[in-house]
Amino acid sequence: MRVLIVEDDEALAEQMRQSLVDTGYSVDHAADGEDGHFLGDTEPYDAVILDLGLPVMDGASILKRWRSDGKEMPVLILTARDGWTDKVEGLDAGADDYLTKPFVMEELLARLRALIRRSVGQSSPQFSCGPVLLDTRNGRVSVDGRAIKLTAQEFKLLSYLMHHEGKVVSRTELTEHIYDQDFDRDSNTIEVFVNRIRKKLDVPIIATVRGLGYRLEWQEGQK
Ligand code: CA
Repeated sequence: MRVLIVEDDEALAEQMRQSLVDTGYSVDHAADGEDGHFLGDTEPYDAVILDLGLPVMDGASILKRWRSDGKEMPVLILTARDGWTDKVEGLDAGADDYLTKPFVMEELLARLRALIRRSVGQSSPQFSCGPVLLDTRNGRVSVDGRAIKLTAQEFKLLSYLMHHEGKVVSRTELTEHIYDQDFDRDSNTIEVFVNRIRKKLDVPIIATVRGLGYRLEWQEGQK
């Protein structure tokens, strides 16, 4: 899952970025409204954390532009003041949730998880596919209750597929959602990751769809 942080407070942005990276997200950061708007407009994010008070272009204006351009990614706004008008303006501009500064990082992470899973129509924080269970709260993956150790990149890839069960996901899409913009991307490595995940899970839940990509699904009776 890939997240954009638009926040001009460098210390707070770095703190959020680090927490998100540590919990298995790829993260891009923009420090002003113009860069933030551009990134959200051109890159596919699974969620955006958007400060309302920003240089160059304010958060509510960015959000209104994204929404009028048809961008539907979940957006969590950060409000500096505790007045209710900012929250109402932000929510009415198209925000899905808000947090008032200062906040505890755990709450931000929990709200983000909820936004991302709701955006794909899932209400539980645990994703399952056949015997495979992925818990977004702690990053744990298990097969029939047996814990599986995945690398950070393998986890990101499996998590994206689990969030899009039953859909064909191309290598390009996977590349865009598991790497941040500074990463030297190579869609050939996706195949390597998929094969490693298959080996570690040892149950056939990731099917190759020739010429198109991969599809995560479990068919009863598969072995
Ligand atoms: Ca600010």
